[in-house]
Amino acid sequence: MLYFVATPIGNMSDITLRAIEVLKAVDMVASEDTRRTGRLLKQYDISKPQMSFHEHNKAHAGARILGHLAEGKDVALVADAGTPGISDPGYTLVRSAIEHGCEFTMVPGPCAFVMALVLSGLPTHGFTFRGFAPKKSGQRQRFLAVDAQSPHTLIFYESPYRVKKFLQDALVVFGDRQAVLARELTKMFESVDRGPMSQLIETIPEKPKGEYVILVHGCGEEKE
Ligand code: SAM
Repeated sequence: MLYFVATPIGNMSDITLRAIEVLKAVDMVASEDTRRTGRLLKQYDISKPQMSFHEHNKAHAGARILGHLAEGKDVALVADAGTPGISDPGYTLVRSAIEHGCEFTMVPGPCAFVMALVLSGLPTHGFTFRGFAPKKSGQRQRFLAVDAQSPHTLIFYESPYRVKKFLQDALVVFGDRQAVLARELTKMFESVDRGPMSQLIETIPEKPKGEYVILVHGCGEEKE
């Protein structure tokens, strides 16, 4: 069996009993960053063989994982943080498992964008998660423009270095809509800032730190 196991996005207590059980029981733990995962396993007193599975080796490592499964072994895939398959290469492993008829399931748990959406106060009955936008401004504006007329709450992941640039482009594409910056969720300096995009831009420090989810109100008036 292949397990996609969600792990904490900051607070180490945010792990399920089942996640710990599964990580203890599997033969191998695959992850993007084995050192980081090693620390996580140590935290829960788990000692387990590990292998790396990341953007640059996903084809080869994915084949290795399928090989282990064919031998009757159990493998867990964990993300750097949160839910594997969301804005990380876990998605490609799901595709391979389907193609090869492998049995797989998920141990659900934290996911940054779900927590950000709930805390944002923006409508949750319709939302579009877009993950990371392109790094270059022109490409980013074209990427954002796809959803310019969408009535749904829009959700993005962004590196702290590009949050300001992202908001500046979002302001050009969407106009001065309500937006939310959800930062360092579940961590000591967790914050959720809400306001028109132009106002949020002013609050971003010169050298922002931490992890951000950006949410933007959909096009049109809020209905509920
Ligand atoms: N798989 C993860 C999930 O379930 O949310 C997301 C992985 S993605 C590679 C990393 C991005 O998620 C970060 O750049 C940031 O945008 C967002 N993120 C992860 N942890 C976060 C946190 N504690 N607070 C805010 N955003 C977070």
